[in-house]
Amino acid sequence: MKPLKLMNYVTGTWYGAAQNLEPVASAVTGEAVAELGSHGIDFAAMAAHARAVGGPALRAMTFHERAKMLKGLAEAIMARKEELYALSLHTGATRGDSWIDIEGGAGTLFAYASKGRRELPNDVILLDGAVEGLSKRGTFVGQHVFTSLQGVAIHINAFNFPCWGMLEKLGPTFLAGVPAIVKPASSTSYVTEACVRIMLETGLLPEGALQFIVGSVGDLLEHLTCQDVVSFTGSAATAQKLQNHPVIARESVRFVAERDSLNATVLGPDCTTETPEFEIFVKEVVREMTTKAGQKCTAIRRTFVPAALIDDVEHAISARLAKVVVGDPAVEGTTMGSLASERQLRDVRAAIAELATEARIVFGDPNTSPVEGGAFMSPVLLRCDAPWDASIVHDREAFGPVSTLMPYADLEDAIRLCNRGQGSLVMSLFTYDTEVASAVVMGAGAYHGRVLIADRDCARESTGHGSPLPGLVHGGPGRAGGGEEMGGIRGVHHYMQRTALQGSPRMLSAIGHRWISGTARESDAPHPFRLGFNSLEIGKSITTKSRTITLEDIEHFAEFTGDTFYAHMDEEAAAANPFFPGRVAHGYLILSFAAGLFVDPAPGPVLANTGLDTLRFIKPVSPGDTIAVQLTAKAKSRRNEEYGEVRWDALVTNQDDEPVATYELLTMNAN
Ligand code: NAP
Repeated sequence: MKPLKLMNYVTGTWYGAAQNLEPVASAVTGEAVAELGSHGIDFAAMAAHARAVGGPALRAMTFHERAKMLKGLAEAIMARKEELYALSLHTGATRGDSWIDIEGGAGTLFAYASKGRRELPNDVILLDGAVEGLSKRGTFVGQHVFTSLQGVAIHINAFNFPCWGMLEKLGPTFLAGVPAIVKPASSTSYVTEACVRIMLETGLLPEGALQFIVGSVGDLLEHLTCQDVVSFTGSAATAQKLQNHPVIARESVRFVAERDSLNATVLGPDCTTETPEFEIFVKEVVREMTTKAGQKCTAIRRTFVPAALIDDVEHAISARLAKVVVGDPAVEGTTMGSLASERQLRDVRAAIAELATEARIVFGDPNTSPVEGGAFMSPVLLRCDAPWDASIVHDREAFGPVSTLMPYADLEDAIRLCNRGQGSLVMSLFTYDTEVASAVVMGAGAYHGRVLIADRDCARESTGHGSPLPGLVHGGPGRAGGGEEMGGIRGVHHYMQRTALQGSPRMLSAIGHRWISGTARESDAPHPFRLGFNSLEIGKSITTKSRTITLEDIEHFAEFTGDTFYAHMDEEAAAANPFFPGRVAHGYLILSFAAGLFVDPAPGPVLANTGLDTLRFIKPVSPGDTIAVQLTAKAKSRRNEEYGEVRWDALVTNQDDEPVATYELLTMNAN
């Protein structure tokens, strides 16, 4: 095949460099598949274009509109996925490996689209937490909000997941309303370039939202400001170099790093060769060693087992590894493809040579290639019987199909050995004993970004040790980079600024589009339940008539519902309870009577009561007390073209104007 000439996407046009082109070789055949370069790009103009054109366009869209855009991008990638699978073969990836990258990447965009619609408002500002009361009379309050950063996100990605690695960052970035410049690793950038083309050709992205560099980023980092973010994935050495860039340090540019990681797995001390967890563990270690030929930042590099079981584990893992078929990923029956490049093969061999000074190879030969040409190697299992005398095994990442098996003496020993990775993306524990699991979480949690606890109950549905998921954080402390990506909406916050607002309830209600207690209520007719979603305004309110609660009401409610709890039925027992003066009304009676007071019964725009949030019973209601309700429209969130959710502030008071219950009522209202 004629090498592809890869293009950059710069200030709205595709640009191919004419000079200083670098070749990229197929990992399978060694022949050139692409050439690339970024010579001649005006990187300052790129950053300026993102800030001046892409950012304002994205910020003009609401979270829901951005979410819809992500869904459209994911659908386009799925519709054209075979183009990506075809290119991905040259990276040495099997169909299964590429599925993680391509469909896993699109799936991450789908997940962010769905989270954006469900968990974020149809708005451009995001409230963070509850209102903080700051004064006695309630005229001065605080509210944290998130607003979009006004700069550009620079995404510098690793070679192992050319699509997913880009998409897992673009999902949260676009949802936050921030434009991105993507720079993939050169060796697999032909797959990324194709994916970028698919997204741009949808026409869904506003101009300036996405730009793309193949090759060097030139002087781009010189032009960063405090509104920009660098999100880096790759080696610790490059991360350090970039993090120490004078502009990044001087401007406090946000820097998220996902670096290499000496991830560990532990077979629990409760396991024997007979417990189901033993087999589950062995399968998982082999899967982690061979998926993507071990080129996953989350792969298991250190495998810890009870000392008494180390021979059994070695034999079981070796027997499974012997069944692995290494070869051309395009050929049927291949279960493990090649490494991503010749350079990668050299690096992994060098790392194994270092590991072998402390451990012995018990499976595989790193130096003979199981297939002619390309970057193929067999899986390699090492064994180190004295892990406390060793340091390289805890420190040197062989970024290939390689793991080191080690014994531990007891659980405390296993925990301390795991933590010798000095901060990892993930560890896994195979145990059925809840006490073992608790001890590991308390002892090793602080050193790990994610902990998978696998057992017979969850093994079938488990997503496995090595899979970062959009709803869970991906990142880890220490040598893993100290970063955090994804984690659902947490990942969106990384591209926004949190600001503490202080002011009057009226002012902060208007800014956050959420009514805050203390703001004037609008309580003229009509009843708020007569107003459609569009015409109902935040702050629209009703104060109901009052109703006295009698002992007969309480007894009737008790008999009708079956709730004859003594606090409602037995004067003496109720009075002995520290919370009650004597018999009191049921909390649910108060809620039911409150609804009876505020509803407007005729058919109208209110379609359904969909729930209650933050319910608190504050003061008991005794027979003879009189209650009334203030119901105020607090926030609105559109669900579709026809209706949306209204959140109401409900305050139930007694005859002395004391609050007896507060809650938020949710209704679905038609336009
Ligand atoms: P690398 O050499 O550090 O490269 C990573 C990225 O940085 C590539 O896009 C590379 O571009 C770019 N880069 C290199 N030097 C740069 C510079 N001076 N300025 C700007 N960009 C620069 O890492 P690698 O060896 O390709 O990747 C493997 C490593 O990544 C492994 O250690 C693995 O553990 C780690 N990794 C971590 C995660 C994670 O989520 N924690 C995920 C995947 C991989 P070029 O390719 O053009 O040089």
